[in-house]
Amino acid sequence: MSRRVVVLGGGAGGLAAANRLAQHGAALEVVLVDRSADHVFAPGFVAVMFGEAEPEAFRRPLRDLLDPAVRLVTGEATQLDVAGRRVRGSFGDLEYDDLVLALGAEVGWPLGPPPSGDLAPWTLDGALAGASALTRLGPRDRVVVGPTGVGYRCPPAVFDLAVRIRRVTGARVDVVHPWPAPLAPFGPGPSAAATRLLADAGVGFHGGFEVSEVDAGVLVSASGDELPYDAAFVVPPHRPPSLVADSPLAGPGGWPVVRFPSFGVDGAEGVSVIGDLASASLKVGMAGTLAVHEAAFVADRIAAVAGGPPAREHPVMSAICFLDTGETASFLQCDFTGPASGAGPAACTLMPWLPYFRAAKRLFAEEWFATTVRGGVD
Ligand SMILES: Cc1cc2nc3c(=O)[nH]c(=O)nc-3n(C[C@H](O)[C@H](O)[C@H](O)COP(=O)(O)OP(=O)(O)OC[C@H]3O[C@@H](n4cnc5c(N)ncnc54)[C@H](O)[C@@H]3O)c2cc1C
Repeated sequence: MSRRVVVLGGGAGGLAAANRLAQHGAALEVVLVDRSADHVFAPGFVAVMFGEAEPEAFRRPLRDLLDPAVRLVTGEATQLDVAGRRVRGSFGDLEYDDLVLALGAEVGWPLGPPPSGDLAPWTLDGALAGASALTRLGPRDRVVVGPTGVGYRCPPAVFDLAVRIRRVTGARVDVVHPWPAPLAPFGPGPSAAATRLLADAGVGFHGGFEVSEVDAGVLVSASGDELPYDAAFVVPPHRPPSLVADSPLAGPGGWPVVRFPSFGVDGAEGVSVIGDLASASLKVGMAGTLAVHEAAFVADRIAAVAGGPPAREHPVMSAICFLDTGETASFLQCDFTGPASGAGPAACTLMPWLPYFRAAKRLFAEEWFATTVRGGVD
């Protein structure tokens, strides 16, 4: 009898894991569950906001991206029974031998959007509202850009966003951030380059700024600092999915405590956690490029137990986040083995600014659907 692997979540990590598992052959029955029938490439929201692409360019039916051997279940998972090795949901009960949790993070304003609206391209709604806000902004306006916390998707993306908003509107733009300096956790080289980027574009930076309230016309920090604005492009809070936060897997802040390098969770036999859902525990960035490497590693380990070839001992913990000012581009590449293993900081490089990296970013989106989530990335 074949071993059943249930993959929860058809984002970057889940899709790559399911495809990789299916490539190992008939010893595994692979089921992928997602509430949506489509897979969305979230980095594309920025292009939508700047009017370079329609949302449809970054959406594909999951079925078209999945190996034909994977069974696709479209429905909401509502309960994890880790003792009974079962997932409950709108689709009924699904039993598993192995469970890969790739549910990402819940991104949004739990109490409703701030008075100025959700304008940040971390959601499609934010990107569309942001696009409309850009048409109203001009040189007399004050714009603030920043996250509500340090754990958010593709951390470098707020800096090029700020530069780009300044370039297209001429507005006064300030970045607020909990970090003391731009890209501070990624090392002195990337931090110095990002600091220069903002300075050259005339964008201000307010470090140590933990957003506590987004009031109408004023951003308030936890220490009481106030920054007036006409438009606020604030990255919404990223929270653990309620399915996990309300389950026995919930650790600090509701995020699961994930072991490295197994990606397992103590007391939850057969469960692996990858992607954005694992990032808080592993102290690594939220990046789809990292999620697909973690997916390959976890899939190979599951397949090895079912008679497949031995898996490698350590995962590739590499992530790439693109930055695009609209005129030139770069990307931050990090190896997160250090923080994940507790051995030290991430080893990161910010590539030089070169206009042809804008083309590389477009290729990144195309290859996402063609190869990256297909399970072939090691
Ligand atoms: C502006 C922006 C720029 C970015 N740029 C980059 C970049 O340059 N490089 C990079 O690597 N990454 C980038 N990212 C980050 C990247 O998109 C995410 O890190 C990646 O999507 C995370 O993958 P994941 O598989 O962990 O989760 P997700 O892709 O979020 O997938 C989670 C899936 O789980 C499903 N799900 C959740 N709960 C349930 C439930 N209860 N029942 C059923 N289904 C459920 C969801 O529908 C979703 O499909 C960017 C993101 C943004 C917003």
